[in-house]
Amino acid sequence: MMKLSTAVYNAAVVLRHATFVIGAKLLAGGTIVAFDDETQQLRVIREGSLLIEGDSISSVSDSIVPDTIPIGVEVINCTGNIITPGFVDTHRHGWQTVFKTLGSNTTLAEYLKRYSASVAQPLFTPDDVYISQLAGIYEALNAGVTTILDHAHHTWTREHAIAGLNASMDSGGRVFFAYTFQNSPDFSIQDQIMHWHELASTVPSGLTTLGIAYDGWIGDPQDPDTAAVVKLALESKVEALTTHDVEGPWSSSNNPELLHWLGILNSSIPIVISHASQISARGAELLRQTNQHISITPESEMHYGHLHPTSHLILDQASLGVDTHFTFSTDILTQARLWLQSTRSRLYKAAIDNWQIPANSPMSVNQAFLLATRNGGLALERPDLGVITPDTKADILIWDARSPGMLGWVDPISAVILHANVGDIKDVIVGGEFKKRDGKLVVEDYAGIQDRFLQSARRIQAKLKDIPLPVPEGRFMGGYPYAPVLEVDVQRGEGTGYGPIYV
Ligand SMILES: [Zn+2]
Repeated sequence: MMKLSTAVYNAAVVLRHATFVIGAKLLAGGTIVAFDDETQQLRVIREGSLLIEGDSISSVSDSIVPDTIPIGVEVINCTGNIITPGFVDTHRHGWQTVFKTLGSNTTLAEYLKRYSASVAQPLFTPDDVYISQLAGIYEALNAGVTTILDHAHHTWTREHAIAGLNASMDSGGRVFFAYTFQNSPDFSIQDQIMHWHELASTVPSGLTTLGIAYDGWIGDPQDPDTAAVVKLALESKVEALTTHDVEGPWSSSNNPELLHWLGILNSSIPIVISHASQISARGAELLRQTNQHISITPESEMHYGHLHPTSHLILDQASLGVDTHFTFSTDILTQARLWLQSTRSRLYKAAIDNWQIPANSPMSVNQAFLLATRNGGLALERPDLGVITPDTKADILIWDARSPGMLGWVDPISAVILHANVGDIKDVIVGGEFKKRDGKLVVEDYAGIQDRFLQSARRIQAKLKDIPLPVPEGRFMGGYPYAPVLEVDVQRGEGTGYGPIYV
């Protein structure tokens, strides 16, 4: 084994090779969680190195110094660190960051009447959308989320739409900005589609890509808006199309069966169906046949009660998302951990209910890791995202593996999935560039951005405080009836449990 000091010397001083690549970086000496295309398994490399040239990984080596190093390479000492791909979040609404902590005990019915895109427009200027989206993406980057499929339903006007798109481009994250086509008072879906065309011709190539979100599939397939969205998606070969599917009594069934019937599921466009709560066996089979994916948002589906009773049966076509990050964790690490343990719990229960003892564990940490990384890339039909292999994008996390929580690890995948927290993420690299370094976001005047964000947040939060909470009565959107849910009590006595909300 070569000592790192020698390796650094070789790399930085002995210019052994002739190529000169501006910005090349050598991550030397860490434990790398790479991917092996042949075995289709994660591959752990101890005391290896990873060379970044431009926006991509050019080599992954078993030794601290690879055979070929460009002149002028920046050597980053990763001794004691774990190096993983960045996390891929396939469902989020970045514009909602200003609502932070307001929805801690909210239900989905309350959310829809108080915080959703269908009611929130009067609270937001385009500047509010910009700063809320920007702060939200920084929050995600800080937590190691390097790719986001943003279901951007703040597209109430041209100005609001552009503000969210600009924030995404300015953030430095890899954002699939799914412009949402929805009914807005003064901005029709047909106008939104024209606007999308304009933007598509002007958005520069970079880390942000223009996609489509649409939730209006239900209803008449001859509806001119739906027909226009299908036409646009197919003709423009959009890089991502996403929709909410919340079934059961929620009755918002933009499911695989419907998209297949409309002729869009079996296309070369990557389609991500978020939640896919209560997906059917037929729907799952259609996803396999067409190679389309769902985005499970574990914490959201538990927090609001969408639930996900069958999602564990289609994990081969699944990825992970966060959803409304103002109500709970912003990071995919937490989602992966929640999903792993709740899936274990669900499947153990089947044995225990039959008075049997589980003889094996139903889901591994490696599977949780792949869901959080590679499967997200596959959902976007981007096999170059969410993995560490040569020629994939250099979206990388460097973990401080000597942190109090991780110290003592042998398996780096377990260390990350079950013992780490996002504070252990030392560095975040997207497209070959540092976005977080030595524990701090690499953002010019971040303090100024924080202040600007807080001005928007405090104003919007104050307005919401003046609006009384909706009282659920009768039926949810005219469909199924509301029903009381048992409230637990952490103190003895009557009515001591729920307590005030400190907003
Ligand atoms: Zn959502």
